[in-house]
Amino acid sequence: MRKIAVLTSGGDAPGMNAAIRAAVRRAAFHEIQVYGVYHGYTGLMQGDMQELSIGSVGDIIHRGGTMLYSARSEEFKSEAGQLKAVEQLRKHGIEGLIVIGGDGSFRGAQQLTKKGFPTIGIPGTIDNDIPCTDFTIGFDTALNTIVDAIDKIRDTATSHERTYIIEVMGRDAGDLALWAGLAAGAESIMIPEADQDMDDIVERLYSGYRRGKKHSIIIVAEGVGSAAHYADEIKKRTGWETRVTVLGHIQRGGSPTAFDRMLASRMGAAAVDLLIEGKADRMVGIQNNEIVDIDIDEALAQKHQLNLSVYQLARTLSI
Ligand code: ADP
Repeated sequence: MRKIAVLTSGGDAPGMNAAIRAAVRRAAFHEIQVYGVYHGYTGLMQGDMQELSIGSVGDIIHRGGTMLYSARSEEFKSEAGQLKAVEQLRKHGIEGLIVIGGDGSFRGAQQLTKKGFPTIGIPGTIDNDIPCTDFTIGFDTALNTIVDAIDKIRDTATSHERTYIIEVMGRDAGDLALWAGLAAGAESIMIPEADQDMDDIVERLYSGYRRGKKHSIIIVAEGVGSAAHYADEIKKRTGWETRVTVLGHIQRGGSPTAFDRMLASRMGAAAVDLLIEGKADRMVGIQNNEIVDIDIDEALAQKHQLNLSVYQLARTLSI
């Protein structure tokens, strides 16, 4: 293997840059050239790529976002789009591709391998919703951003003795809401993986109130509905003042945590090693702190499992 390429696709995540850096440097160690493809699959179909020198990935390990930019492409979902991409890769003499992204991006990677082009996936998404890996790149940073925001909201919630409903990202996966809720001591956590029982939520608010607690924090994953809706519902049932905060895209940004930089560095290097070993259609993962690789088809056939014992723990600790 003499020349490989790397791209970032779908929702960006802090730590993607650290993964690009690791891929470039590990490849350089093996005297392999790396091309950076700009704007995800859109750029791949257009041949928008350029060689990344060791120096070009300097000073990015601590930066959020992705130096290669990210994009979503409808055209790439078609067979014609995928063939165009393979043609560009071959034209540039590239022999293997690393795709850093979420499950949508992995489906694209899967198609490229099926068309005869060796592709490896690295899980990069703040949602932590990829099966077969304990963590995805960006999750820890987003989690810390949310916890920091909740701590700040708690100060004002305490001062004004109010109930705050905070909406966080997570359409299908409640990991961010759950882990942030546990780490920040939220009274209730609403996630897509569990039933939303308003009677239970209100009862927990009342029981806190009876003990003298005058403020409460409720975390809502966007997948279960809007924070505004639940704030209205709680106000209707209790008559209490409620306030809503939708954290939105600040959850995507920021300098990656040390954990995400470590994870990205390990995964970026592992992806290069897999290509060197002649492997394709694999995703890199982390299981019990060991870097592993899994068949992408097998991984995509599964559903990400949220750790429900953490949910039970959060409920127990927030009485
Ligand atoms: P993420 O990778 O963060 O899940 P998306 O779901 O938007 O983000 O996927 C990113 C891109 O991957 C899409 O814009 C599309 O180009 C490509 N993609 C998604 N699903 C498929 C698919 N089933 N087949 C081929 N390409 C896909």
